[in-house]
Amino acid sequence: MEERILLVEDEEALRVTLADRLQSENYTVECASDGEEGLQKALENRFDLILLDVMLPRKKGFDICRDLRKAGLVVPIIMLTARTETVDKVLGLKIGADDYVTKPFQMIELMARVEALLRRVPRQSTDGGHVHQFGRLRIDLRGTSVTRDGQVVPLSAREFQLLRYFIEHQGTTLSREVLLKDVWGYSADAFTRTVDVHVASLRQKLEEDSKKPALFVTVLGLGYKFARQA
Ligand code: CA
Repeated sequence: MEERILLVEDEEALRVTLADRLQSENYTVECASDGEEGLQKALENRFDLILLDVMLPRKKGFDICRDLRKAGLVVPIIMLTARTETVDKVLGLKIGADDYVTKPFQMIELMARVEALLRRVPRQSTDGGHVHQFGRLRIDLRGTSVTRDGQVVPLSAREFQLLRYFIEHQGTTLSREVLLKDVWGYSADAFTRTVDVHVASLRQKLEEDSKKPALFVTVLGLGYKFARQA
């Protein structure tokens, strides 16, 4: 099955070049040239990944990203930012972006990141135990949805992948290095802070009291453990 990518970019030259390159890598590409069109297409069609420019006419990339997460979509999103734009990556993470690429970028670098995110998308699994209930939280691994008392909890694709990994390894202590390798696909341990930032974000969104985490438990000196609530 060909993977479908939505490219939202207002600079025509870049849009055409990128679309050509993605198609040559066997992706099916849909383009949008402004923010409103991008949001509409993203809501109406199923995509495996979205490449989203930050500065767009009619609606900014961050607003689109936030709206998509609020709507419960966990599609991976890579933001394209200009070098002159200062991007607060922690803020971006909060609104649900999965990765950033700064323009001008090497095509090969972007392709690597696209592949890395697509490889880790939660695939439709055939296992029966795909719905998990933790207190007021309901997590549907197959439907990739997280709700609290029926209300959607917006998660980024990476957050969902991390949550899924935790659930699949309930009760096991997981080191930051293992999480990085298995969830992010990085072999280097230079980015273990990334894990902490994402765990903090999951706690903020999913714990009853993020200061006293009951689900994402810190195991001092070792890493984290996902504990099923009583
Ligand atoms: Ca732009």
